[in-house]
Amino acid sequence: MNRSDFAILKEQVHGRPLVYLDNAATSQKPRQVVEAIIEAYSTWNSNIHRGVHHLSQVATAHHEEARKAVAAFINARSSDEIVFTKGTTDSLNALAFSYGEAFVGEGDEIIVSGLEHHSNIVPWQMLCARKKTVLRHIPLREDLTLDLEAFKGMLNERTKLVSVAHVSNVLGIIQPVEEIICLAHEKHIPVCIDGAQSVPHMQVDVQALDCDFLAFSGHKMYGPTGIGVLYGKREWLEKLPPHEGGGEMIEHVRWEGTTYNELPYKFEAGTPNFVGSYALHKAVEYMQSIGWKALESHERELTQYCEAQLSAIPDVHIYAANQPKAGVISFNVYNGQLSTLIHPFDIGTLLDQQGVAVRTGHHCAEPLIDHLGVPGTVRVSFGLYNDKTDVDAFIAALKKAQMMLS
Ligand code: PMP
Repeated sequence: MNRSDFAILKEQVHGRPLVYLDNAATSQKPRQVVEAIIEAYSTWNSNIHRGVHHLSQVATAHHEEARKAVAAFINARSSDEIVFTKGTTDSLNALAFSYGEAFVGEGDEIIVSGLEHHSNIVPWQMLCARKKTVLRHIPLREDLTLDLEAFKGMLNERTKLVSVAHVSNVLGIIQPVEEIICLAHEKHIPVCIDGAQSVPHMQVDVQALDCDFLAFSGHKMYGPTGIGVLYGKREWLEKLPPHEGGGEMIEHVRWEGTTYNELPYKFEAGTPNFVGSYALHKAVEYMQSIGWKALESHERELTQYCEAQLSAIPDVHIYAANQPKAGVISFNVYNGQLSTLIHPFDIGTLLDQQGVAVRTGHHCAEPLIDHLGVPGTVRVSFGLYNDKTDVDAFIAALKKAQMMLS
């Protein structure tokens, strides 16, 4: 992995070399992505789709090439199934609104899981409030895996959609989405996968998974902020109404009413983030140039190495220890003598003072954190540029923090 592509990794924080272990929140960007943004604004910036002039055509071509690249990246059947959004949250809100308008009514049920990010809870709660629908969640077993037996019992004729995270942003556990999709499909219930934490770390093939929808963010996969994707199977997207109006989503507008554009433009109201899609395309190419095999094995090895180091430290509790994870580990540190939890913010602050960036708190998954019965966790999360020297620096800094706080 070429760390030198990521200029920010040479930065110092509080006089110490930066050790960036907050990739689940957002990843750093390689030179190729940063340069693409400069190139776009310096050489071809122009609004897309509506212009006959040269620059507009160049910009349009870039946006549509990016769509094709993203479609190939997740193995969608067609680029028409790729809707550009602002990110995972925007994708899930769009789906909740649009699907809710078309297919959900009073007394119907939506199922999420007990470990979702708020972005895969709140849009469904809003839909439920609007439509008098019931939001249910798959309970967790003692080992923090999903209780699929309970899930089977929850599926019924009122269930209108299942939406689950592929990888938990708190625990890092890779969820059994294949099984969830099979069980739901047996009852003809569509499934949406929140891929915010999976698409950056593992090969996600929407045809192999057979998911009906997939949401993910560009900024977590080495791309820019403000661009994300809602993938939907064509047969679903065709049936869904647009969630926003204006711009390129129309076919004709008359005072009597409006007809809508074809896929995927029906879902892209207003000026799309065409510079973002261009830079996302570069991020996709960057990941492809490394290849999934190298990327996945590098991050798996690093996660296992880190978990082994962490579990050797007394009074550290790792959540979902020894379960297959995609680049995320959550833990808490206890004060051995007093048997009390050291607040994750205190650990995070002392790590930061040593140049180590981790995330602490509820990680936008309060129901899961409540379930764990703690005020929050400390989370380390890896990207392709991290290596064992980062883990060693983090472990040394953690031991120091622990000593200071005990
Ligand atoms: N779902 C999961 C599992 C996430 O980890 C995140 C980001 N932390 C989101 C959704 C929301 O992503 P974004 O903020 O990019 O919309």
